[in-house]
Amino acid sequence: MRPMYTPEAEAYREKVQAFLAEKLPVDWHGIGQLEGLELNEFVTDWRKTLYEGGYLATGWPVEYGGAGLSALEQVIIGEEFAKAGVPTGGPNDVFGIQMLGNTLLQWGSEEQKRYYLPRILSGADVWCQGYSEPNAGSDLSNIGLRAMLDGDQWVLNGQKIWTSAGHLADHIFTLARTDPDAPRHKGISFMLVDMRQPGIEVRPIRMISGESEFNEIFYTDATTPKGEVVGGLNNGWAVAMTLLGYERGEAAATLPIRFQAELDRLVLLAKERGVANDPIIRQRIAGCYAKVQIMRYNGMRVLTRFLGGHHPGPDGAISKLYWSEYHKEISELSIDILGADALVPVGRRPSSAFQADDAGAPNSSWSWVGTFLNARAGTIYAGSSQIQRNIIGEMVLGLPKEPR
Ligand SMILES: Cc1cc2nc3c(=O)[nH]c(=O)nc-3n(C[C@H](O)[C@H](O)[C@H](O)COP(=O)(O)OP(=O)(O)OC[C@H]3O[C@@H](n4cnc5c(N)ncnc54)[C@H](O)[C@@H]3O)c2cc1C
Repeated sequence: MRPMYTPEAEAYREKVQAFLAEKLPVDWHGIGQLEGLELNEFVTDWRKTLYEGGYLATGWPVEYGGAGLSALEQVIIGEEFAKAGVPTGGPNDVFGIQMLGNTLLQWGSEEQKRYYLPRILSGADVWCQGYSEPNAGSDLSNIGLRAMLDGDQWVLNGQKIWTSAGHLADHIFTLARTDPDAPRHKGISFMLVDMRQPGIEVRPIRMISGESEFNEIFYTDATTPKGEVVGGLNNGWAVAMTLLGYERGEAAATLPIRFQAELDRLVLLAKERGVANDPIIRQRIAGCYAKVQIMRYNGMRVLTRFLGGHHPGPDGAISKLYWSEYHKEISELSIDILGADALVPVGRRPSSAFQADDAGAPNSSWSWVGTFLNARAGTIYAGSSQIQRNIIGEMVLGLPKEPR
């Protein structure tokens, strides 16, 4: 099955191709060919190029700095950028654009939209996500970070944990308890907090991969102005769920493109290592191929719904569960193909702890070992697989709720 693109969509594809041809060097083979300083410089410059070319937040309305494109045009950008081996945004854009920006469009006041959205796009504000706490992960409504109103400002005390990129951010969108007497889900507010103040302390956490992508955040009399609540006082649960829909489901149509490229690279690895004719390896590769196809079809299903004006909701759990469980499978296969070499990995490491390694990355053992280690986390962040199954059962299929 191949998706049908209208002549207008194909004309738009040519425009995207022309942009990429103009902005990338002639001998370009994908961002995965770069490492260290060179990679960092490219990522920073590329984000600037996208911003100046109007290729960030392409689905947002033009009045807030977006390009007002349709979901189909955004998929075309995803496809062409993946083919060219370049990202569709900077590393922080998953928090700023995909999660917070989309949520502000739905829930923010006009003032919040006009102030924050252009700053997200320009890179003036760098965001992180303050949801989880030591006693509130899957059980998110148990959050204890307390916010009390003092005159014109909120005073926050408590702790967040597992805050990805918190050490690189200067703003945090955070869930705080604003009414401790209300039922758990009803006493929470969604707040925007500037982290550049003495009341906020960021402590990095070291992961199994050796990297420190996430942090603990301590609030000690930290403050934020009264007007920095999004979506209404004590209505934070609804706002938080909207954001999780964007976190889990927004990329359903474009992620399979990256996973297909990753699978192609795994097939090359199997050939390079002389195991491409091993019947068990072949069978497992075929299994991965089938799953990437299923992700593609699910992506098209989601895209069709987006084209009809639907925003990601609980059904985002379907793609989140599927890709994250699949990613454990393919990365385990890569380790089996590498054999003992996986114990002493060498070469370029993945530049990010999230999902597939960069397009054009060499088949180094570190590329696959790093991806394997990080894939474990994919079934935990943005809600664990068990929680996604609960959501699908209860909120998508309408099955009876689990005993609480
Ligand atoms: C790499 C990474 C990055 C992250 N980044 C962020 C971030 O930027 N911001 C942020 O706020 N959080 C972040 N998180 C935290 C993440 O959202 C939580 O880890 C996740 O929600 C699970 O919560 P928990 O760790 O407290 O585990 P728990 O909730 O304690 O769960 C432990 C186990 O019990 C299972 N379980 C719990 N409840 C149920 C149930 N009702 N039914 C069945 N099984 C259940 C879970 O599936 C899991 O296997 C990140 C996590 C990781 C791994």
